[in-house]
Amino acid sequence: MRALVLDAARRPLRLAELPDPGPGPGQILLRVRACGVCRTDLHIVDGELTEPKLPLVPGHQIVGDVLEAGERFRAGERVGVPWLGWTDGDCQYCRSGRENLCDHARFTGYDVDGGYAELAVADERFCFPLPDEYPDEQAAPLLCAGLIGYRSLRLAGEGEMLGLYGFGASAHIICQVAVAQGRRVFAGTRAGDDETQEFARSLGAVWAGDAAEEPPEELDAVIVFAPVGALVPAALRAVRKGGTVVCAGIHMSDIPSFPYELLWGERVVRSVANLTRLDGDEFLALAPSVPVRTEVEVFPLEQGNEALERLRSGALRGAAVLVI
Ligand SMILES: [Zn+2]
Ligand SMILES: [Zn+2]
Repeated sequence: MRALVLDAARRPLRLAELPDPGPGPGQILLRVRACGVCRTDLHIVDGELTEPKLPLVPGHQIVGDVLEAGERFRAGERVGVPWLGWTDGDCQYCRSGRENLCDHARFTGYDVDGGYAELAVADERFCFPLPDEYPDEQAAPLLCAGLIGYRSLRLAGEGEMLGLYGFGASAHIICQVAVAQGRRVFAGTRAGDDETQEFARSLGAVWAGDAAEEPPEELDAVIVFAPVGALVPAALRAVRKGGTVVCAGIHMSDIPSFPYELLWGERVVRSVANLTRLDGDEFLALAPSVPVRTEVEVFPLEQGNEALERLRSGALRGAAVLVI
């Protein structure tokens, strides 16, 4: 099969011919139709996540057709493969409904090969059936930008006034969900990024502006999607007493020190790590009812490096997807 391979951090992905993977016990074999490009992939390629399997086929938002069936999915069925690829089912986190924190979790496109390839194998217990409404390339960003964004939204609480800082793949999906829930969305972007601010307003944000500046009204919560630590004190400044700042990414630059009074008043700063299968089931049932529409920029497999570069430079609108 053809695949994009990471040989070492800070090197471009290499288009390679690899042996076809064979499914192990509990796994299904998939013909990959599309695979979303996530900021986490960029953190892996850039060496900010330091423990990938190498060489590695990245990609953890896989939409594929089942070629070799298991017990749960039949041949020909379309399934989605997310970041959470395997858990032990046995540690204190798994046993308390927090498999996202599993001590021995394996992640797709990090600990096991992912979907920047023509074929992939996956543990079928961690795959999802996908809603029929979505074409392959539109479904792919639901699998991480959507799922983990949705978990972040839940952990942000029920407040009406919601900030989304960093308006990329995840925020453009979660904005639609939040607006449908009757919330007022305030979108923070890079300074002067008029195009993204306009994009946010087109999806229902009541305000869009520079994330480092304070929005015009006090917020109940802010989800920080951008991997920029300096946005944490900025977000704390924007939330009211009792408000929550959720850091949604897997990696962030250092958070600068800030005066305690920004945290005072029972404000909360928390991270969101990974996903549970329950998050996936809930979100994939919710998305078509909103309905969430994903805005995607499509690239052929050979252009994976270009897709990552577009993401790195902030030039993307919505999500990048490799169509295989
Ligand atoms: Zn576990
Ligand atoms: Zn991801």
